[in-house]
Amino acid sequence: MKKSLLVAAALCVLAASALPASAQNTPLRIIAFGAHPDDNELRLAGTAAKWAALGHQVKFVSVTNGDIGHWREAGGPLARRRTSEVQETAKILGIAAQVLDIHDGELEPTLENRRTITRLIRDWKADIVLGHRPNDYHPDHRAVGQLVQDASYMVTVPFFCPDTPALSRNPVFLSYEDNFTRPNPFRADILVSIDDVIDKKIAAVEALPSQFYEGGANGGPQLVPGDEAGKAKRRNDVRESFRRRFMSTATQYRDKLREYYGAERGDKVQAAEAFEISEYGRKPNAEEIRRLFPFYGAR
Ligand SMILES: [Zn+2]
Repeated sequence: MKKSLLVAAALCVLAASALPASAQNTPLRIIAFGAHPDDNELRLAGTAAKWAALGHQVKFVSVTNGDIGHWREAGGPLARRRTSEVQETAKILGIAAQVLDIHDGELEPTLENRRTITRLIRDWKADIVLGHRPNDYHPDHRAVGQLVQDASYMVTVPFFCPDTPALSRNPVFLSYEDNFTRPNPFRADILVSIDDVIDKKIAAVEALPSQFYEGGANGGPQLVPGDEAGKAKRRNDVRESFRRRFMSTATQYRDKLREYYGAERGDKVQAAEAFEISEYGRKPNAEEIRRLFPFYGAR
């Protein structure tokens, strides 16, 4: 081998070793669809931060712009505020984010929107796609669930949206945790401990003040005190209510945590995120789940 080739090879090795171990081959590509500019953050921020820390590529898409989700403000200015909040959370998590310019509360599972979701999944060359389940309290959540489900096969069909190359391999489609039971309850297929990134997830939630600190669509002026002590208390109340919520997932699906982490480590997990595997995308076996979620270590 010529000296220059040897140097080039050595540089390649150096570049590769600078990457975290699990992303040295091909980084995973994950795209997540939430109906509003807080849905992905609430359900996936912890796992997203863990993927990002390992060099994997994560993108959050808010399918609506959140322009009616506040008790005091609405319209274009709120949409702009929501987009800048989401960009801030993306910086904290080390991921990409996009907010589609569709009115909050008016999302429908139309053909046009199916094309949009299909193109976004293809453009990202996704290995994993996440979204809401189609049974949910909010019409926009239901529409996202329907749209992602509708795209789950079409992303592989070349003459659907032929302007954007189809994926040769169907991604794994996953649904977010929810508590709705009709027609069927959420099934926790995959559990991820987020204890090591809980502060990052809380920071991401705090970077969305229009949603949580100020109370969102059903809030009111009573939630936003004028004095410093009141503001500090409100911030703390929001932080702790979310900490409890993220911990309740670990409590509720403890058996599954033990399955993934082994009994001893599984019992120690405090906060977690849970996902259901869709029947319509590629169905990963246990080995592939551990490749796609490279967080479990040896059992
Ligand atoms: Zn929402």
